[in-house]
Amino acid sequence: MRAKAPRIRPAGSVAGVSHDGAVGGASGQPSLTAAYLGVICDLDGVVYRGPDAIPYAVSALNDVFRLRPLCFATNNASRTPGEVATQLRSLGLTVEDAAVVTSAQAGAQLLAAELPSGSAVLAVGGPGVPAALAAVGLVVTREPEEARAVLQGWGRDVRVDDLARAAVAIAHGARWVATNTDRTLPTPQGLVPGNGTLVSAVAEATGREPEVVGKPHAPLYLAAAERLAAAPERLLAVGDRLDTDIIGATAVGADSLWVLGGVDGFLSLVGSPARPTYAAHDLRALLDPPVRVERLDPASWASGEVRLSIVSGRVSAAVAGVTIDLSAVPGNQLAALAATVVLDLRGQSASYDLAVSLATEFDRVLGHSAGVNRHRVEDTRPQ
Ligand SMILES: [Mg+2]
Repeated sequence: MRAKAPRIRPAGSVAGVSHDGAVGGASGQPSLTAAYLGVICDLDGVVYRGPDAIPYAVSALNDVFRLRPLCFATNNASRTPGEVATQLRSLGLTVEDAAVVTSAQAGAQLLAAELPSGSAVLAVGGPGVPAALAAVGLVVTREPEEARAVLQGWGRDVRVDDLARAAVAIAHGARWVATNTDRTLPTPQGLVPGNGTLVSAVAEATGREPEVVGKPHAPLYLAAAERLAAAPERLLAVGDRLDTDIIGATAVGADSLWVLGGVDGFLSLVGSPARPTYAAHDLRALLDPPVRVERLDPASWASGEVRLSIVSGRVSAAVAGVTIDLSAVPGNQLAALAATVVLDLRGQSASYDLAVSLATEFDRVLGHSAGVNRHRVEDTRPQ
């Protein structure tokens, strides 16, 4: 996170939400949230990181709740919605259990639509997986031979024996659904193997591939849209991961807000096919009017009074012709500018190296330190 307080205000920014909730005070322009019928928000890297709330997330989302229906969609299947909601309430969010949609629920819903009620399903994963199956009238079994299907999600206590049972059930013809295939799971200690890694083990053993319901696949987002009683095209999906949250949103026709602070920074954006509708440093962007960015010429972009220019491969910012430090540009405005610059430059081989160097600079200024997805950049240079 950036340490420095913004010294100038973002274009059209407002201090809070006006009395009717939908229109920003100072600018009179509607907030980003007000343009949608509802918001689907990711959790890890957006609302919290480890045990701690991400700055501004709780207050912003409580304000969003007053404006529009909001639900949380998570690929992590290990916990029940009730457990997740309890954690969110402990962070200060005004949230009911029903506002949490997990990939285990999306998987159970898919199986319930296909199998007769009372069918036996082998559950692999944390408590969220069997709870989701039971909630839709399916029966959880440990016996591979009697399982009509396998629902596989992440769980802290998943053992080799669980993977073996899944493989045997699948070999016996059981339908195989994976809650998600995220290769890694962020923890305070670092990235650890995620459900995708465990799914790969079963795939290696069986020569089969599962149907996946979590982001970027459609079922989880569609389940969330159903919960909000709105078409995905009228919803805004918020997330930190380009390859799941953002690509998944685009796939179901939803607009997306990509927020920094999670796994991906601008360097990841250079190498990703994802094209977020909006980008922001933090969730206050949901309550401000969208930041508009305009490309003035091949080497300069403007947002409100801020102008970014690239001269000799270096980026500089100016307000009314006076050069300012990049870190003086408010985070959400800079993130929107930076995303536009990177998206404009990344697709052309002539400007690819420039996109990489600018993305590195944007990540540094906006405080994205990890660069854990840096390897992707090397693989995606346009030919
Ligand atoms: Mg996330």
